[in-house]
Amino acid sequence: MLSSLKNRIKIDPIIHKKGAQIDMLRLDLIHPVVSGNKLFKLSEYLYETLRTDHKTILTFGGAYSNHLHATAYACQSLNIRCIGIVRGKAHEINSQTIDDCKHMGMEIHYADRETFRRLFEQTNTEEIKNLFGDCMVVPSGGLGLMGARGASLITNSIPENVYTHLCLAVGSATTLAGIMMNDRNEKIIAFPALKGMNDLTERLNKMGIQDTDRVSVCADFHFGGFARKTPDLINFMNEFYTQYRIPLDFVYTGKLMFGIFEMLNRQAFPQGSRILAFHTGGLQGNRSLPKNTLSY
Ligand SMILES: *Cc1c(COP(=O)(O)O)cnc(C)c1O
Repeated sequence: MLSSLKNRIKIDPIIHKKGAQIDMLRLDLIHPVVSGNKLFKLSEYLYETLRTDHKTILTFGGAYSNHLHATAYACQSLNIRCIGIVRGKAHEINSQTIDDCKHMGMEIHYADRETFRRLFEQTNTEEIKNLFGDCMVVPSGGLGLMGARGASLITNSIPENVYTHLCLAVGSATTLAGIMMNDRNEKIIAFPALKGMNDLTERLNKMGIQDTDRVSVCADFHFGGFARKTPDLINFMNEFYTQYRIPLDFVYTGKLMFGIFEMLNRQAFPQGSRILAFHTGGLQGNRSLPKNTLSY
């Protein structure tokens, strides 16, 4: 599984016309189960856990978390004990994602909002140790320097001096920080999946990125907030699939591609731009949608 990080990632053409080119970096295809950016972000934590005497990985997530799902699979394949702290009450959560995590051997603990916030914000403190023993604590989404260093490997698959813009969806901003660790020329456009994300620079600074001039933020395409959706978004995703045969997720990549297409319509990219959009995976999360919402 970890060897899939070293394979070259496929790049698919989407739109090639005079004036603009859009390609897609298919991180969603790197592995049948742990697709997208999550395995990259986890990789250093996994290597470190195997290398040291941390026998257990503990991490956090919501009921449909791609991060929890990827962690559960990775730990199962590497024979690492893992604990997932899930935000919410056990009886209120009915999620295939969490069911999968349990089947893959993750020990699930539910925490109410307040406890979740306390544990999450006080990562690695005595409280976690007292409750769960000695663990390698992976912050939610792999946030932090180790996560970013893992994500920085993604750029190995992007040919140099080909693209003018790299576009990606942002949650914790760990992947973005990783991409920015490499000294390259492309402009970067970040599409936050959250509404009102106003601490992006601070997050990047914390992960060692001081020079943020390369990145611009396109904050118009959150569709109401994290994991919110509108009929327009869903129609766009279905049409995108019909046209390009590429499934998108509704939390991140659907909004990203909608945003890029809209910017193209508004002629927001300079003439001759060559854009690489990151397909960061997340397709398992589409299972939270009512049946038949998506055509794929
Ligand atoms: C987690 C996730 C992201 C966000 O990555 P960050 O490193 O947290 O910014 C983007 N796309 C998908 C599909 C994801 O699952």
